[in-house]
This record gives sequence, structure tokens and C-alpha cells, in this order.
Amino acid sequence: MDYDVLILGGGLSGCAIAYELSKYSLNIALIEKDYDIADDISLVNTAVIYDGIENEYDLMAKLEQEGNRDFDELTSKFKVPFKRMGTLILAREEAHEEILKDMYNKAIKRNIQDIALLSSKYIKQIEPNLNMDFIGGIYTEHTGVVCPYDLAIAYGEVAFDNGVKFKLEEEVIDIEKISKGYRVTTNKNKFKCKIVINTTPGENYSIDVEKKELPKKFIGNVKYLLLDKNFKRNLDHILCLINNKNEKIMVVPTLQDSTIVAMYSKENISYDYFINNISNIFSNIDTNYIRNFYQGKFYQSSMVIDDSSIDEGYIKVDGKNYSEVTMTPFIARMICETVVNNLKCKLNKDFNDKRREFYKFRDLSDEEIDQVISMNEKYGKIICHCQRVTEGEIIDAIRRPLGARTLEGIKRRTGAAYGGCQGANCINKIIAILARETNKNFTDIVKDSKDSKVVLSRIKEFDEV
Ligand SMILES: Cc1cc2nc3c(=O)[nH]c(=O)nc-3n(C[C@H](O)[C@H](O)[C@H](O)COP(=O)(O)OP(=O)(O)OC[C@H]3O[C@@H](n4cnc5c(N)ncnc54)[C@H](O)[C@@H]3O)c2cc1C
Repeated sequence: MDYDVLILGGGLSGCAIAYELSKYSLNIALIEKDYDIADDISLVNTAVIYDGIENEYDLMAKLEQEGNRDFDELTSKFKVPFKRMGTLILAREEAHEEILKDMYNKAIKRNIQDIALLSSKYIKQIEPNLNMDFIGGIYTEHTGVVCPYDLAIAYGEVAFDNGVKFKLEEEVIDIEKISKGYRVTTNKNKFKCKIVINTTPGENYSIDVEKKELPKKFIGNVKYLLLDKNFKRNLDHILCLINNKNEKIMVVPTLQDSTIVAMYSKENISYDYFINNISNIFSNIDTNYIRNFYQGKFYQSSMVIDDSSIDEGYIKVDGKNYSEVTMTPFIARMICETVVNNLKCKLNKDFNDKRREFYKFRDLSDEEIDQVISMNEKYGKIICHCQRVTEGEIIDAIRRPLGARTLEGIKRRTGAAYGGCQGANCINKIIAILARETNKNFTDIVKDSKDSKVVLSRIKEFDEV
């Protein structure tokens, strides 16, 4: 056997499972087709940590509740930005009062703690900067906001430091059952292992042919705006505005001083309809504050952790759900328990549950900055002025365990190029540092995937004039 456990897919799920399993004495590898882990987590580095109140399904709500409880300990030991903010779920019209009451009663049955039904006057007290009238709402205390890239990368780094082998740029082509365990074929290798944990969305492997495909439940469309720090509304909570047309608007203060406003709808809503609805809440949104606009599909299928074949050594994590970040710590622990029981393995006595130190210049005091610069002068050279990211941080992001090799990898790990200028002033400098540190040509550095070159060729290098 090449490995005890092969984890397929290096998204948040794969990295979290790798971390949990690295606490045991196992020979583990993770296979990811992209250049970096956690490529598809989120459009911006912000995810809401739900508490189970909003989910349509009791079982998914339970996974949210269990996952939610892990976040304080997890984020504090990994130094991942996380803040419990609480959510105000609000209704504007009398006709929507029933929706609130149903939601509240369901939450009580689910045993969700620290929630309250609010009349309009209390809403103003809790969120005084909301200049709009609501007929009522629900306050729920334990929701929060996390930086999901940081979480996935932290999981990955600690797993890597504890011996998990990460095989990046390697695509799984097939998984077959063999007499003792599995054979996993990639575009580069063939591996034998006792247990496969498959977190990739692929359905076409030999092992899956017999299995039923999960129905992907289509919910609708989502449009997002990312508003920069000049859109000052000083909101202390996540807001969720509901109505009976199966539309909701979410307003999420991010941990990077910006605000996300998202509208979910079953209909294919237009940009103008979206903007009009938001303008009703926040009069006159200055379009200069819009840093980014995204739109996409919004799916909610149930998450399925299919361990029905665990006796043979196969576990599949399937489903697409808007609250998977919230559920992941719990799902990873569950899967780990199943594997440990199956293989009857022992704890890894050398396991080190500590992430290697790093410095975030913009969070340091003047004294700390002086101290760090005196140790390494590269921390004295700012590369991204909008986000105050230094050359020292970029070099560290490259040299760390599972270090960045792409422009996106640097952006995610350091926050560089996410500011007002969106990288206009720093992308070239970051590429130059990446090229120097990885011993590559400037023109070989990619944005994220194989064919995503950022700089095509040197200026004035033409085939013909
Ligand atoms: C826009 C957006 C907003 C979200 N907001 C929230 C939120 O606010 N709160 C919340 O709780 N959750 C949120 N989520 C959900 C959450 O971010 C994702 O569902 C979660 O990151 C999925 O992680 P995963 O590891 O299961 O899947 P993925 O991230 O899809 O990971 C699967 C990995 O497998 C790799 N892979 C695929 N095929 C192969 C192959 N053949 N060989 C090798 N590797 C392969 C892929 O490259 C990928 O890295 C959001 C998701 C999106 C898209």
C-alpha cells in the first residue's frame, strides 16, 4: 500500500479532513488538481457562520449548529480572523410577520440558543444605524463572519507540518476497488490505499458508477456587491431581510472594513431590480463605493457524507450547500472518527497543533512593527499600499508550508491587491517577488491555473514589426 488514506480534493473539506486525520498515526496524502489548495471557496474572503436558524432542513441545521460551536477555538488557535456578530432577521411588511414567527418557532424546536423575537422599537436599539422601519424581526446571537481562505490554508498548513503529503497539480482520473483497498489513478501516478475519502464533485469514477447521483437542488440566483470602506454604515450585525417572494437580502460587514450586500431570488432578477431594492434600505448608494459585482447560481442540496461503503474503505462527501464552511469542522471530525474506528489507529504522539507564526503588518502596533523590521528589513518595505502588505509577508507566504506559487495564492494568504486599486499598483511587484523566490521567469508566473499567465511577454518582444 502506498498510503493508509488518500483524500481527493484540496478544498476546505479536504484540508479539514487532512488536519483531523493528521492527529493519528497514519500515512496520508491529499490530491488536488489545481496549483493551490482552497481555490474555490468564496468570491471574497468572507463567509457567514450560520447557527441553523435559516436552514430549510433540520439535519442541515444540526450540522450548522455543531460546526458553529467549533469556530471560537479553531480560529483562535489558527489565528484566523473570525467575529461573532449576531444576525438581525428583519421583515418590513405585516404580511411577513408569519414568516418570522414560523422561523422563530422552528428555531426553538431546534434548540437554537440565544434568540429573540423583536418588535420594531428594539430593532432600532440593537442596530441604531439602520434608517428604515421594520415591523419586527428575530435576533440570533451566535452567527458570525470568518475568513474562509485563511481557515482552509491554516488547516492545510498544520496537516502538512504533521506529515500529510499534498500532491498539487495532480488530477484524479479514476478510483477502482481492488482486492485490498483502492487504486486511485491520476494524470501522473497510480496509488494504492486502504481508504479513499472523496471530496471532489466528480461523479464519473468507476467506484461511483453504481452509486446514485445526488439531485442538485436549484434554488435560484444570487447577486453580490462588495462595497468599500467609504460605504460607512457602521453596522454591528449581519442583516437578513426577508419577504414572501422567496427573496432575501443579506448585508454582511466583512472583517476587512468592507460590506457585502447580496440578494437571493428564485427569479432571474435584473441588476436594476437588485440596486433598487438595496437603495430602499440604504438610500443613495454611491456607485463609486462599489468595488466588485458578482452574480451566480445559488444551490442548496443537502450535504451527504456517504460512508455506506466504509467497510470497504470508501467515503464520499457530496452536495452543494451555501453553509458548508459552517458545517465543515464538524463534518471533518465525524469522518475522522469513522476512519479511526475502521483502521483502529493510534494517536500521532508527535502531532503539533500549532500553526507556524506569521506577521500581519497592518494588525501590528508601532512597537511590534519596529521589532519585526529589526529582525527582517523586508517587513519594512510596503508592496501593497492599500492593504499595507509588506515584502516580508509576501516572501513568508511563498516560503511557508504549502507556500503560494500563484498570484491568487499570494493575494489570498496576505490580502494584497484586494484594496481600492485592486492591484493596479502592486501586481507587478508581487509577480517579480514570486519569480525571484521560485526561480522562474517573470512571464511564467500565473494567476491561478496552468493557462492563466498574467504577463504574456516582454514589452517590444514582437515576432515582426
Ligand atoms: C460564492 C460562495 C459563497 C459562499 N458563502 C458561504 C458562507 O457565507 N457560509 C458558509 O458556511 N459557506 C459558504 N459557501 C460554501 C463554501 O465556501 C463551499 O461550499 C465550500 O468551500 C466547499 O468546499 P469543498 O472542499 O467541499 O469543495 P470545493 O471547494 O469545490 O473543493 C473540491 C476540490 O476538489 C478539487 N478537484 C475537483 N476535481 C478533482 C479531480 N478530478 N482531481 C483532483 N482534485 C479535484 C477542486 O479543484 C477543489 O479544490 C459559499 C460558497 C460560494 C461559492
